[in-house]
Amino acid sequence: MSKTQLRNSKTDLFNIASMLTDAELEVRDKVAEFVDRRVRPNIAQWFDDAHLPMELIPEMAELGLFGMHIDGYGCGGRSAVEYGIAMQEMEAGDSGLRTVISVQGSLAMTAIAKNGSEEQKQTWLPKMATGEIIGCFGLTEPTAGSDPSSMATHAKLVNGEWVLNGAKRWIGLATVAQVAIIWAKVSVADAKAAGVHPDGDTRPDDEMVVRGFIVPTETAGFRAEAIEQKLSMRASLQCDIALDDARVPVDAILPHNPGLRGPFLCLNEARYGIAWGALGAARDSIKDALEYASTRMQFGKPLTAYQLTQKKLADMTIALNKGQLMALQLGRANDAGTMELHQISMAKLDNVRVSIEIARECRTILGGNGITGDYSPLRHANNLESVRTYEGTDEVHTLIVGQKLTGEAAFS
Ligand SMILES: Cc1cc2nc3c(=O)[nH]c(=O)nc-3n(C[C@H](O)[C@H](O)[C@H](O)COP(=O)(O)OP(=O)(O)OC[C@H]3O[C@@H](n4cnc5c(N)ncnc54)[C@H](O)[C@@H]3O)c2cc1C
Repeated sequence: MSKTQLRNSKTDLFNIASMLTDAELEVRDKVAEFVDRRVRPNIAQWFDDAHLPMELIPEMAELGLFGMHIDGYGCGGRSAVEYGIAMQEMEAGDSGLRTVISVQGSLAMTAIAKNGSEEQKQTWLPKMATGEIIGCFGLTEPTAGSDPSSMATHAKLVNGEWVLNGAKRWIGLATVAQVAIIWAKVSVADAKAAGVHPDGDTRPDDEMVVRGFIVPTETAGFRAEAIEQKLSMRASLQCDIALDDARVPVDAILPHNPGLRGPFLCLNEARYGIAWGALGAARDSIKDALEYASTRMQFGKPLTAYQLTQKKLADMTIALNKGQLMALQLGRANDAGTMELHQISMAKLDNVRVSIEIARECRTILGGNGITGDYSPLRHANNLESVRTYEGTDEVHTLIVGQKLTGEAAFS
């Protein structure tokens, strides 16, 4: 029985597949087939070698995974549920590879799609959809993580050009990207001079506001360097970026959604994808543990015959099914246009933390063999530590849900 068939029959105890349309099942099966064929045979070695398999980019593009939820400009125009299902299948392979799709599609392409001019969309999105152009998304800084409003990177209008200075940290794909979306502070006066300050906004000229910039990575003064010796997301790439007097044309600024609304529109897309994706890693972990336990003999019986093992498998599968139902409900709300921000936070927070617990518990079933690359749970658990931290930590999402319940903002 292939892993794909096993996924349907063994862990889908609530028959969630029956709630999916034919188009959604088709997306699921196409991405699952790709993961089975191209990712599973190689992922342990890539993780060991800290290798991001760039050779998969054209095939991911061919599957329509880059910007698959964006309409037009050569993008997929698929539904939110289809996008979520694709993320779950990719992350069943590896969180690092799902991250590639999130960075390219949910972050870099969405930044242009939601905040860019028509000309910017025409220029960048079609080639990003085909993977000819790789993008990255620079929001986090060495001293500004959960609180991006404290960012120090800034852009100044000098002789008709924007001059960017600052530093970014943890930026996915930056050393292989052709284009970077850089979030930086600009003065209201400069935004007005560039013709991108909203009419009717009466803020004083010297106030600083966050804006996005499209920065080709070949720009003089732009430097990216990979972060080494990671213990998580090893088949993926995160980088430091330095901006030293990096000059871009006046029309490199994203004209719409000034302030943190700009990047947050993108983060919401990525968080939505993670709420689905993390469960793929959990599901894959259960699959490995179940297969192993059914053939591993101890004290004269397979591990599956012991009540303690069955309790672990039952609890994990119930938690997985609950998370999948939450993701599906979130996706249906997203497609209906009724999804609310606290719902994204609930699903991102809980589905990631449940998935980490599942991956770790599965590792216990594998015994000593579970610490080798022959099995997926410990790799998934290590990757999920990053997933738990990026796109809003547990604490940040807890505070968002807490604010919804109490009406009190307790962030600072
Ligand atoms: C693998 C990986 C990929 C990433 N990719 C990108 C990317 O492509 N682009 C990008 O811009 N960024 C990226 N990031 C950065 C990521 O978004 C940040 O790491 C994240 O926002 C947390 O910021 P920080 O690491 O600076 O931690 P901090 O913000 O310093 O947080 C440290 C701890 O303090 C807690 N904390 C912070 N504020 C509060 C509070 N008010 N109340 C209670 N607790 C609080 C946090 O929850 C956390 O537990 C990536 C990170 C990783 C690890």
